Amino acid sequence: MATFKVGTAAAEPGTRADGVIPVTRRPGGEPLTIPVVVVHGTGDGPTLWIDGAIHGDEPEGPLSIQKLLAELDPRQLRGTVVAIPVVNVAAFEAQQRGNPFDGFTYDMNRIYPGRPDGYPTERVAWAHYEAMIDTADLLIAVHSGGAHSYLAQAQFYNGTDAGLELAKAMGPGWDLILKPLGSKGSPPAAMAERGKPAITVELGGLCSTLPNDFHRNGTVLKDAFLNVMRHYGMIDGEAQYADAWHLGVQRTVLAGVGGFFVPEEGVQYRTPITGGTRIARILDLYGNVLKEIVAPCDGQIFGMRTLPAVYQGDWACFFGEIHETIGR
Ligand SMILES: [Zn+2]
Repeated sequence: MATFKVGTAAAEPGTRADGVIPVTRRPGGEPLTIPVVVVHGTGDGPTLWIDGAIHGDEPEGPLSIQKLLAELDPRQLRGTVVAIPVVNVAAFEAQQRGNPFDGFTYDMNRIYPGRPDGYPTERVAWAHYEAMIDTADLLIAVHSGGAHSYLAQAQFYNGTDAGLELAKAMGPGWDLILKPLGSKGSPPAAMAERGKPAITVELGGLCSTLPNDFHRNGTVLKDAFLNVMRHYGMIDGEAQYADAWHLGVQRTVLAGVGGFFVPEEGVQYRTPITGGTRIARILDLYGNVLKEIVAPCDGQIFGMRTLPAVYQGDWACFFGEIHETIGR
């Protein structure tokens, strides 16, 4: 087996190497780079890419990746793990979804493959895309509710059959699998254009970064990465699976009116509810009900806003409409 190189990280078989993917120069002169870790195994196997924080306000990616790296022994690994804890470093530093200094291509998850001569974030995307697209066999893109919402365990596969297999390999608890929606221009969509498997996984939000919740979500994600690695034979052990998978689409419920968003007390994520069930109310500041937010159909809530001031047209709830439940 040969040296495995991504950017400046060059790992010999059975070792880990840390480095960067160079991108550009910051206004102050320091280099803007994408930190990358390569863990190169000693036997044959696939190359698994794991990306965190393409949205800078979603710290579950870097947390879960660091937990994984702490457990991985490259001498016991077949294949290679390429981990990018934070894809959009400028956004991470600003603790925002995108780089606040890039007004034209703010959302990095909509602009892939990027452009080598484009706007600032397009250049970051291009550097990441170029490093990833030929070498990645499998891609897990880690997301969460960020600064604006909380998302429970849900995943979007990239429309490929192999992507659906990857989604199933996440293991127990990851049984809500949605079709790609509005993800054009994301790294998983770029992988789909090459016919390669990729998933977007959602868990957490900045409202859950108090110590216990933050570590619990990071550990749930880390355990799922290990399960994926067992499924593809990258590490020893038997992979676990959900008893059944719920396949469907995302329904985005928007606020019909501006006001004070108050979710119903006791409303549960990831629990079957019937269409028409009240999820939240939008009140004026005197307490009068302006609008009731209800489930758009039978299904499950998997995301809800955590910012109580809402404009008309803001999203209120991410809802999973289940089309099919399949057994193992
Ligand atoms: Zn995200």
